[in-house]
Amino acid sequence: MKKMKEKLNKIRNRVIYRVYRFVQPLYDHLQSVVVTEIEKHERLKAIAEGTRLWHKLQEKKRIAALARLRMEKPVILPSIEERIKLRQARCSHLKGGRGPRSIVRDYNVGDHTFTDGSRQIKCLTCGREWWQTTTHTDPEWDIALQMTKSSTNRRSSSEIPQKALRNQQEGIKNGPDNLPY
Ligand SMILES: [Zn+2]
Repeated sequence: MKKMKEKLNKIRNRVIYRVYRFVQPLYDHLQSVVVTEIEKHERLKAIAEGTRLWHKLQEKKRIAALARLRMEKPVILPSIEERIKLRQARCSHLKGGRGPRSIVRDYNVGDHTFTDGSRQIKCLTCGREWWQTTTHTDPEWDIALQMTKSSTNRRSSSEIPQKALRNQQEGIKNGPDNLPY
């Protein structure tokens, strides 16, 4: 019985060995294939990681460069007055904005004379004002005057109301309700 068992064991071992010898090349081949695939995968992963790090570094460099620039040139926001002046400086004072220009230049300016004799030319787009009073004349007054001559807008003035004039002519004494202006 014991001898029989030993014999069986021997046969079994031999069979296992034979099978192993037969299977080994296939196993080795499979292993090498798997290793190659893993290596390929690892390589791709490494490349992706490297690319990511490279981009991160570039981003850091960009941020650092921007920070340096800001340190050198601090951003100063213009005040409301400065922005208005900038807009007025950029304004063409023409009608129609950025659309196609007409052959004759039509400036969008108003020309108004007040009762005290002072005259105001004003751009109705940007709000720039040119004044001519008894004591002051805008340095660009001539330019403004030229613009009014090339505008379809009409001149206006604050006149004494016609009714008050008639009343005066008819010799009716002006009451507080009939003040000329
Ligand atoms: Zn303007």
